[in-house]
Amino acid sequence: MTIPAGCHCGAIKFEVSEVPESVTVCSCTFCAKRGALWAYYTPDQVKLSVKPEADAIYSKNGMAKHHHCNVCGCGTFSEVPTWVDYQPDWENPRISVNARLFEDFDIASLRVDEVDGRNLW
Ligand SMILES: [Zn+2]
Repeated sequence: MTIPAGCHCGAIKFEVSEVPESVTVCSCTFCAKRGALWAYYTPDQVKLSVKPEADAIYSKNGMAKHHHCNVCGCGTFSEVPTWVDYQPDWENPRISVNARLFEDFDIASLRVDEVDGRNLW
């Protein structure tokens, strides 16, 4: 089952290929402020439809690229590595989408995993 998603103004839309097994809340300094519920996919599982002029990227340490809509302000998705033993594996990139942007989907039906990113990396 694909799930359509998008920011509030519709400038950034995406569709994921399947319902995630769970969503993740991360305690790192960035995620705690953004307040996203992350769902992780391989790049081929996410169909992005982005108006380039609306797509803004924040990257504090030059590693993960956190995208948001510069029209309506929604945090949309991030380009992240796979983590293996707390080491980034950029050979296997992931897209973490903000599951709060899923359209007509009961997000409360998903298990929420907590990751202590503030202390792990
Ligand atoms: Zn927007």
